[in-house]
Amino acid sequence: MYFVTFEHGGKVSAGVLSGDKRKVLPLEGTMLDIIDQGQAALDKAAKIVAAGDAKGVAVEEVRLLAPIPRPRKNIFCIGKNYREHALEFEKTKDASVAVPKFPVIFSKVPTTVIGPDDVIDSHADLTAELDYEVELAVVIGRKGSKIAQEKALGYVFGYTIINDVTARDLQKKHSQWVIGKGLDTFAPMGPYLVHKSAVPDPEKLAISSKVNGEVRQNASTGDLIFKIPELIATISAGITLEPGDIIATGTPAGVAMGFTPPRFLKAGDKLEMAISGFGVLRNTVG
Ligand code: MG
Repeated sequence: MYFVTFEHGGKVSAGVLSGDKRKVLPLEGTMLDIIDQGQAALDKAAKIVAAGDAKGVAVEEVRLLAPIPRPRKNIFCIGKNYREHALEFEKTKDASVAVPKFPVIFSKVPTTVIGPDDVIDSHADLTAELDYEVELAVVIGRKGSKIAQEKALGYVFGYTIINDVTARDLQKKHSQWVIGKGLDTFAPMGPYLVHKSAVPDPEKLAISSKVNGEVRQNASTGDLIFKIPELIATISAGITLEPGDIIATGTPAGVAMGFTPPRFLKAGDKLEMAISGFGVLRNTVG
């Protein structure tokens, strides 16, 4: 099932796509309510999809928002989790220097989140080095701490796309990444929250980004250095994971800073972030 949060007629609702993906079928409560309710909400949604589209609205007639427009806490993010990106980030060919030995974990504040087709603020008064990072994001479905790797995928609700937008100059200047990764609009998310039942193997997904139609990143989630179960086990070892928590798993090579000279974003640029079977997350830089 493909879950969405959408606005129609001035009202924001959670919904699920019809079987042919042409209609949005409204659900009760917010996306976080649905994740909290677990199996009961999934059964209800499945029934609604099976019953057809009587109350559905055509996808073109709604405005899709981020599936979780306001996460309850910071988004967990993993840095340098693809080998080639770690090399381009550290500007070296020496993997023993660039590739981390343990997962690099930081976070983005909830106010970074925007939805499909929303405008990424270029913050031109603050940064001259605006960058994009397509990422597979994992959404947690149930509460857990000290989760064993073998059981980790059982704690997942589903997956979505996040663009971990970054101001490289601020990331460097402030050492810690809270500001460089945390400016308003720096976490476009969506278009769907894909339930895990529709994702047979989250580590066999094509992941790519385009800027103004030109492919910049093109990889497979199979290239993740630290795999999803290890990330969940590492974070939950001492931090309780809760329903609706989000983990952005890192970005592959091909970001703007990786080019010589760098190809940072500018106002008017059109971004397309894609993961196979997840749709395309489109945003413009404003
Ligand atoms: Mg990132």
